[in-house]
Parts: sequence; structure tokens; C-alpha cells
Amino acid sequence: MLSTPDFTEITPTAEVRTSTHGNRAKCLQRLVRLDLPVPKTVALRFETVRAIAGGRMPDIRALLDVFGQGALLSVRSSSQMPDWGGPGTILNIGMNDEKATELAATHGQSAADALYVSFIRAYAVDVLRLDADPFEGPITPRLAKSAFEAEMDEPFPQDPCEQLAEVLKSMARAWEGTTARLLRQAQGAPADAGLGLVVQEMALGIGQGLSGSGVVQFASPETGEAQVTGRWLPQAQGRAALSETDAQFIVSDKRGKSLEDVAPEQVAALKSAGALMRQRLREEMQIEFTLMNGHLSILDAVRCPRSGRAEVAVAVALAEDGIITTDEALLRIPPFTLNQLLHRQVSPIAARDVLTRGIAASPGAATGKIVFSASAAQAMAAQGEPCILVRRETSPEDIRGMHAAQAVLTERGGMTSHAAVIARGLGLPCVTGATRLMLDSRKKTLTVPGRKIFHEGDVITVDGSTGDVLAGAAEMVEPALGGAFATLMDWADAARDIGIRANADTPEDAAMAQRFGVDGIGLCRTEHMFFDPARLTVMREMIFAENPSDRAAALDRLLPMQRADFIELFQMMQGQPVTIRLFDPPLHEFLPGDRDGIRALAEALDLPVSRVQSRIESLQEFNPMLGMRGVRLGVTVPEIYEMQARAIFEATIKASRKGAPVVPEIMIPLVSARREVELVKGRVDAIAAEVRSKTGQDFTYRLGVMVETPRAALRAGEIAEHSAFLSFGTNDLTQMTYGLSRDDAGRFMSAYVQQGVFPEDPFTQLDVDGVGELMHLGADRGRRARPDLIISICGEHAGQPSAIAFSRKAGFDYVSCSPFRVPVAKLAAAQLSIQDKNLPVDPKVSV
Ligand code: PEP
Ligand code: MG
Repeated sequence: MLSTPDFTEITPTAEVRTSTHGNRAKCLQRLVRLDLPVPKTVALRFETVRAIAGGRMPDIRALLDVFGQGALLSVRSSSQMPDWGGPGTILNIGMNDEKATELAATHGQSAADALYVSFIRAYAVDVLRLDADPFEGPITPRLAKSAFEAEMDEPFPQDPCEQLAEVLKSMARAWEGTTARLLRQAQGAPADAGLGLVVQEMALGIGQGLSGSGVVQFASPETGEAQVTGRWLPQAQGRAALSETDAQFIVSDKRGKSLEDVAPEQVAALKSAGALMRQRLREEMQIEFTLMNGHLSILDAVRCPRSGRAEVAVAVALAEDGIITTDEALLRIPPFTLNQLLHRQVSPIAARDVLTRGIAASPGAATGKIVFSASAAQAMAAQGEPCILVRRETSPEDIRGMHAAQAVLTERGGMTSHAAVIARGLGLPCVTGATRLMLDSRKKTLTVPGRKIFHEGDVITVDGSTGDVLAGAAEMVEPALGGAFATLMDWADAARDIGIRANADTPEDAAMAQRFGVDGIGLCRTEHMFFDPARLTVMREMIFAENPSDRAAALDRLLPMQRADFIELFQMMQGQPVTIRLFDPPLHEFLPGDRDGIRALAEALDLPVSRVQSRIESLQEFNPMLGMRGVRLGVTVPEIYEMQARAIFEATIKASRKGAPVVPEIMIPLVSARREVELVKGRVDAIAAEVRSKTGQDFTYRLGVMVETPRAALRAGEIAEHSAFLSFGTNDLTQMTYGLSRDDAGRFMSAYVQQGVFPEDPFTQLDVDGVGELMHLGADRGRRARPDLIISICGEHAGQPSAIAFSRKAGFDYVSCSPFRVPVAKLAAAQLSIQDKNLPVDPKVSV
């Protein structure tokens, strides 16, 4: 048995570790320990491979001696983590004239020739990086050798020692190449990640009797269900069976020939090897095997490749079978994998004709006909035609169109632009900031440089999971809720220790949130309730009212509509907490933007167009996001908040009468001063008293504040004196902390991230250093003033694992995110609390 500092023969007791020899070497040792038929294998440690890349060769003769005279060998890479990649496998090292003659006698001339040519080709092209052309096509070993000599000015090397040395050198250097380095670093590999190599005796797969090679796995790569899949190819080597069209099935199959038809015992042996690996390696493995004259060899096993859906199904099945714990199952699934289950996706094997790429703003994919306006989207939907709403950017006026569309694509905007926020709430795929698109909504054309001009009605696919915009229709995979997904969510609920609420603006959103099992609604943006065409008109009347009594009349008409919304919302949430945010956006967002709209409004209000026009102008602001919105509106036009408070209280009484008692939470947006809270609180309390005395019914409610301005965070102590809860609105808080417009930042964000100015888009990943510091300050000051203060985060960041980690550490009570982000948030929260338990959650594989 060979064991030197450089080479370790893989035996059950040899010192082979993932951290020194890599994942593949360790896995092969486990297979050996399980007594599976693995050919003789020697592992090279990271340091040895690093030395080889640096030009210091170990004793190759000693290595060859392990395998004996005339053995053919393969070399495979063995990085620490399978995802980190590594150079491709080289087979049949040791092939030379002498070996070819020997093989011709035992296996026949053509088999020997085929092996020899394939090795010369691989050696020339993959090892020495010669041009592939001279080695293409059906050539003889003689021709291959002379092509080699013509390129290299020296004969094809006959010495296995020289061949093996070159292979090892080439693989070691490939690992050091820039592309390989960047690729693995993108997968989380450290800069100094090492490569191990495994040298294995070939099991030929070519020759007399039943010979060939195959790949088999026991879980479906698409669904994760127990199912034998894979391919087998007679007279073949390596993974050839996966790429050849004449490959056969593993188990008997009506569609064609199978290995089981001719070798049932070997297939039974493979099945028991798979079951043994599942049990002992605690994972579904994919096995690479060879038959040589009927004799089975297992050459390699890797974690079986799988879709997100299969990932969940496999982990849940392993836990249900008692092979891993539920905690491990939860930890094995990267949270964002769940997005693949919640939405339709472009099939991973589909062809993709990518037109352009923007920001992946809301996951899932959809195909439809291009429309350029919300009204066209509604018209298209009315005809039952799926459509994609394409806009420069969206505004509240587009909401109905977004409801009608299958997906949204905008030229501008980022992760928290209007389109992105609404689309995530609706579970609609969305790509924003597709800045290479040239949109002409008047001509109704969409131009992508270098491609044809797209017109209204042309079909495209929006992939909100990758940010890709694809020409035409793409093949899709359907969502997979229920089953393993539902089980995983139950386990996550049991494991997590932070509340997860949903941002839900309408009863439909709330229903979706309930499907995902939330702890309540953490943010109901009430303004979204006013975009229904019938309400929009009344809303506009309210905005145009020229005196308090006209305004009161319009608000009186809005009141029953709001009340009905809240009753539905409360009933849907069955006594769970519901946080209703009072009106937030600037009023002019509710006014028409184009000439037709203005004319229609003038007709509805029976006013001259010029009056409407000038009123709209008088409401325009240079910087509406920093202008008359949120609590500023509440202070200056108090009737709006009063109407909303009345609607909330009356709905509370009504919903409590029918079901579980409701304790509404009323939240004031965009606060920056204590006095704002005092003023609004005074009015809300007065309305509560009025409703109580009018109805003779009592109820409780909580009043709280959204911390969205840096000043609110700094002055949280005095603000908390009047607040039962604080919720950090990190969209605005990020915008104001950076002084960075959330609607415009998309234009330069990629340059900023590329040049390392920001590590990430702060509208996507919570800026823990800056915005986070303000949040810490706010939370501490608030709690000091009021120890029972409930603290949460409800900006778009709230569904991100990093923001959940921050919120848990800071002792927040809950996070509130879009309904479709709830599953990801639950899983991330569960993982964090499991990790904090510091238990040995991934007990060592027992082999
Ligand atoms: C926020 O600012 O974080 C927030 C939740 O409010 P909106 O996105 O509606 O401004
Ligand atoms: Mg806000």
C-alpha cells in the first residue's frame, strides 16, 4: 500500500480528508469502506498538486508502480466542494503501441484502435491544448500519431510515466487559470482553494462479453421522486452514455433496450449500492459504473444533480426515512431555491434566445404578447391572451394593467422601484432596469440593439429569476407547492424563532399570505386600495375638492369602500395582527398623466380642462418622494387619516362580532418628528372615542410608527413614547440614508457594484453598516423609552436572509415581506435559529 506525503492509496484506513484531498477522494474512500467494487485509486493532496503546478514533480514512477506494469489509468479532479469545479477527467493514460498490440489480441483490433485514437486525441487537445481539427473524424492510430508529431515536432510519447506527468501538470495548471479561479470564487471558494487529484485504474468498458459504461441515479433530477434514471452504453467509457443517442435505459423500459434486460443481477447490484450510499452517505448519489465482461466496477459517485424542486423532495424524503434529521433537511436547502417551487420557471433544459438582461426584480417566468400600456394589457387579458406589460417605468396608474399582465418589463428602475415592489406583491415575474431596451410607446415598438424591432403583439418571455428577456415562448416548468414543500414549511415554522408577517395590500394578497401560513400582516399599504377605477374617480374628486365640505363628501363615499376592504382583510386573517399603514404617497400620483386622462377627469368633475390642468400643476413637486407625502399629508389634510381611522375601527367592530377579536395596528408613515405622531395620535384617539360612543362597542388598537427617515431613527426614543410599535421601512430609510433615489439608482447601480463602491445594491441587500447602524440606534433608543415596544422591519429587504439575520440579532419581533417571499424568509429564519443552537447538526457521515 502506497502512502507518501504526495500519494495516498485509498484504503478504508488511509488518511484521506476532504480538507486535504478534496471531496471526490473522500467520497471514493467511503465507497471503499462500504465494500463497493471501486478500482484501485490513489489520491494526491492539494499541496502536491500545487507543487506540480509550480513545476515540482513528485515521484511519478512510484505512483505508477502502485498500479503495476501495463495498467491504464484515469485522472479526475477532487476539489474541496463539488460546486467549485475542476478540470475534466482524462481517461486511458498509459495507452501506447505496446498496450495497443496487447489489447488488439484480447479485445480485437478495432476496439484497441478506438481506445488508442481517443487517448491520443484527449492527450493532444485536452492536455497539450493542441488544435482539435487534425484529430477529428475517423482516423487510425497511425494518422493520429503523425498528426501529433506534425504539431509537436516529436513523436507521441510512449512512456506512461511521461504521459501521466503531463496530465497531472496540465490539470494542476488549469486549476490555477484565471477563468477557473473566477468561476469557483463565484461559488464561494476562497482565493487559496486547493485541488486534489485522484488517479484510478481504468475499468475498460470495452471488450468481450457484456462491457460498457453507464451513469445511474435513484431520484428523479426534476422532481426528486424515487425513480431509477440514467443511461447505459455498451462498449463505451466514462460518461459517454449521457451524450450518445443510442444509449440504453438502465431498468426495463417500454421505450427501448435496457441494461436490466441483459444484466438483471448487475442492475440489482447497482440498486443496492445506491440504497447503501443513500443510507450511509446520507445523500442521493449518482453512480458512474463500468461493466467489463459482466464484472461491475463503481468508478465514482457524486451528489445527484437536481432541480430546486428535487432538492426539497430529496431532503424531506431523507429526513422522513430517518436518515437525516429535520434540522439537517432544513439546513441543506439554500433558501432561494424555494423560488423555483413557487413560480413557473423557464425549464433548465430549454433553449434560451436572450434579447437582453435587466435586474431580476421578481422571480418566476412568463410568456406573452407585448403590450405597452395598462389599458392594452387589460384589453388583451379580456380576450384571454397572456400579455407582458412593457413600460419605461410603472406608476400607480399601471396597477390594473399589472394585474392583467403575466409579467412586467421596465426599461428603468431597480429592486425597489414601483414595478418591482408591486410585482413581488402580486407574485408576478418582473425584470426592471433593462436599460439596453429602446422603448417607443407611441410607435409601440421595442428595439434591442442588433435584433429585430418588436411590435405590440410579438411574443417574448420574461424571466424574473435571472433578469433575462427572451425572444418568443420558452418551455416552462410548473410550480410545486404542497407535498414535500408543505412539510418543509411546517418544519421551518417549528424551528424558527422570529415572526414572519406578510406585506399584503388587498384581500387577495392576504389570502396568498395565509396560504403560506404567516403570523399576520405587517404592512398593508392602503393607497393600493384606491386604484380600482370606481374608487380612483372618487379619490380624484377628493383631491380636487376646493373646500372642506366637498372633501368630506368625497371621503364619505370612500369610507364604506375602505371599511369593506378592512372587514375582508380582518376576516381573512382570523384575529391575527394586521398592521394598516395610513395613506403614504403624494396625492398627485392619483392624477392622470396624459391628455386623454385629463379630459376624462374634466368630464367627470364637470370642470374645464384648464382648471384640471392647473390643479394638477399646483400639486406637482420637484421631489415628491421628499415632499408632501406620508404623515405630512396626514398633518396638513387630516380628514384623509380620520376617514381611514374610522373605517378601521368600524371594520374592527364588525369583524370581531363575526369572528376572533381583532386588534388593529395603525401605522404612521414617513415620520420624522415626535409632534407629527402626537398630532395624528390625538386625532385617531378622538375618532376611536367617537366610534365607541356611537356604536356602544369597545375595542382596542395599537398605534405605531414607520421608521423611514434617519431622523425618526435618531429620535426613536421620544417617538416611542407615543408608539406601541416601530417598523423600519428600509426602502425609504435606505433611500434617505444614502441620499439615493430608489427609482433612479438602477441607472448607475451596476457600475457602482462593479467598481466596488457598494458591495451590493443597498436596495436589495440591507446595508448593515450604515442603515443597520441607524436601525440599531433606533431600536435601542425606542426600547429604552418603552421596554414593551414591538420592533420589526417591513421594507423589501425583509425577505432577504441577511436582513433576517440582522433582525434576529437585533432582537426584532418580526419581519414582514411580500407574500411570495414568505417561504424563503421562513426557511432562512429556521436555518439561523438552528445554527445558533450550535448543535452538531451535520453529524459525520458514518463511513
Ligand atoms: C419602506 O419605505 O420601506 C416601505 C415599506 O414603504 P414603501 O415601500 O411603501 O415606501
Ligand atoms: Mg416607505
